[in-house]
Parts: sequence; structure tokens; C-alpha cells
Amino acid sequence: MSQELDIIPGTEWGFFTLPRPMCIAGPCSAETEEQVMETARGLAAFGIHVFRAGIWKPRTHPGSFEGVGAPGLKWLQRVQKELGMKVCTEVASEKHVKESLAAGVDMVWIGARTTANPFLMQEIADALKGTDIPVLVKNPVNPDLELWVGALERLNRAGIRKLGVIHRGFSTYAPIQYRNDPGWRIAIELRTRYPKMTFFADPSHMGGDRKYLQELSQRAMDLGLEGLMLESHCDPSCAWSDAKQQLTPRDLQTLLESLVIRENTSENEAFREGIDALRARIDIIDEHLLKLLKDRNGVSHAIGQYKKEHNVAILQAIRWEQLLSDMLERGASMGLSQQVITAIMTAIHDESVRVQNEVLEG
Ligand code: PEP
Ligand code: MN
Repeated sequence: MSQELDIIPGTEWGFFTLPRPMCIAGPCSAETEEQVMETARGLAAFGIHVFRAGIWKPRTHPGSFEGVGAPGLKWLQRVQKELGMKVCTEVASEKHVKESLAAGVDMVWIGARTTANPFLMQEIADALKGTDIPVLVKNPVNPDLELWVGALERLNRAGIRKLGVIHRGFSTYAPIQYRNDPGWRIAIELRTRYPKMTFFADPSHMGGDRKYLQELSQRAMDLGLEGLMLESHCDPSCAWSDAKQQLTPRDLQTLLESLVIRENTSENEAFREGIDALRARIDIIDEHLLKLLKDRNGVSHAIGQYKKEHNVAILQAIRWEQLLSDMLERGASMGLSQQVITAIMTAIHDESVRVQNEVLEG
């Protein structure tokens, strides 16, 4: 059973200024001091305040570029000092945490492969005890909500309250259009469970290709997520990792400017009045529905009595089939979908059988 989380929302971390999206951008990997500085400069130029760069890279195959390691932390310090940006990197062990904290990294994130490993999550949570930097947890590579929640719980128990999540999609065996299956449903479920949690989407790792970044970013905004983590590189096609999915700072700016941000709720007076009036009408209709259901139950009760007196079985399959097909036909003529009529009538019929059974057994 999952526990309550004691969290501080991202708007109170002092990292991000409104309006949405809260933006984290930077290269997949820190490669050289020049590449880090040039990319960061390009991002700072249009108001990105939070810089990402992988220092230790979890790669699928050995022999791939596995990150520059601790020496790269000095470059992040230059980004902080010279550009006034906050910096963050991925940690996957106690050693990474210790080295990042010692270097004054402002925020860390947990990668998808690490979230899926409770031993590592505990090790990282223990190493973070006593700090109050924000920690972002990517979803595990597999679509397992509890594994994601468990990782958040471990960090929260270690006293980390500036907790956020990054939705980057899930691995699939069969190839799909995107690098990872968005599986938004799981993010929405997590959001419903923890409404105060700050949510980022990672369209770069979800899409795996520059051409999908706009549509995935827009989708994340339409779903009401607070932020985006996007990979950006001063020379994307020459990147040492994830070359296909990175954007130049200039292209990233164009993408961000193209996003349509709809408000989650509107404080606008006229909007409030309009929506209140419409909701009042819905409330009245719902009251009618309840009253009708109550009346219908009363009639079911009477039918139960009548059948009992005449020793007739409750379930009259032919009558039910007839009733459903009549309703479907009439519903269709009113523009109501077959699916919704079937679902509602089935629930109503089940309830009627239950009421009649109660009469029979009572
Ligand atoms: C990354 O952010 O560079 C990364 C390795 O991502 P993920 O953990 O989502 O694969
Ligand atoms: Mn990457």
C-alpha cells in the first residue's frame, strides 16, 4: 500500500519562474568544456534557467561513451558561475550523489534504469539524507506504477521533500513510431494520486527523434504537466550520445515558442461565471438521474414481489435482450453511442437483478 508523500511543489524551489512550462534543457551528455559552455550560453540567451547534462551515462552496450565522469562537474560549476544557471545531472549510485553534492550541483535526477532498481534507489536515498536539493525521478523503463511510487517513497522517507517526476515513456519489445511508448495513462494515474507533485515530460527520450519533439511537448502541456526536460546540443548531429533527438538552442527556442499553453483553470471572472452556470445545469440533471434511479429501484422491488408471489425466476434473458436492443435503437436516434448505452443499461439492469434478489431472499 502506498504512503502519503510530504512534498514541496516545484513553484517553491526557487528554480523556475512562471508561466509554464518549467523548462530544463541541455545536452544528453557533457562532452567537452567548450560544448557545455556553448550550449549553456545558447540556452541562457533566451531565458532557460536550468541546465541539464549527463556526467555519468547509463549506456546499453559497453564500449559506448559512458560520460566524462567527475571532471565534467567543474564545467557545470562554470555554467553556474558565469551564466547564473542552476545545473542538474543524473545520479545512479552513492558515489555519484557524493561527488555531485560536493561539487554543488543544484538538482539531480534519477534515470529510468535506476528507478527500476530498489537496491540502488535505497542507496541513493541514503546518500541524499540531510540535503534539501530537488530530486526528479524518471519513470522506470517498464510500465510499473508501483515501482515508480516506491522510488519516490524511499526518497521522501530520507527527507527529500522537493520531489518531482519526469515522464519519459516505457520500453517496448516491438518497434513503435517513438523510441519509448508514451503511456500517458500511467503518468495521469500518478498525478491523480499525488496532485502536489511537480510533473515534467521528457519528449526527447520519449520520441527519440527531433521530428516528434513538438507534438510530444504539446501533448504534455495539453495534459497539464508543469514542465519539460529537453535535450539540446550546440551541434546535435555530432553529439556523442542521442544525436538524433537533440536540438540546437535556437531550434529549442522555436519549439517552445510554438507551444500553445492552455490554462488548467482560469481565474477570469466571465469564465468563472459561465462555467458555474453550466455546472449548475449539470448538477440539476444529475439530481434528476438519481431520482429516476431511485424510482426505478422502487419498481424493481415491486417486480421482485410480484415474481415471488407467482413463483417466476428473476432473470428473464429474453426480456433483457429486448430491452437493451430497444434502448440502443432509441439511443442511436438521439445521437447516443452504443457503447455508453450498453454500459449504463447493463449497470442499471444488474442493479435491478440485485434488488429483486433481495426481495426473493428477504
Ligand atoms: C537522460 O536523461 O540522458 C537519460 C539517460 O534518460 P533515461 O533515463 O530517460 O533513459
Ligand atoms: Mn539522452
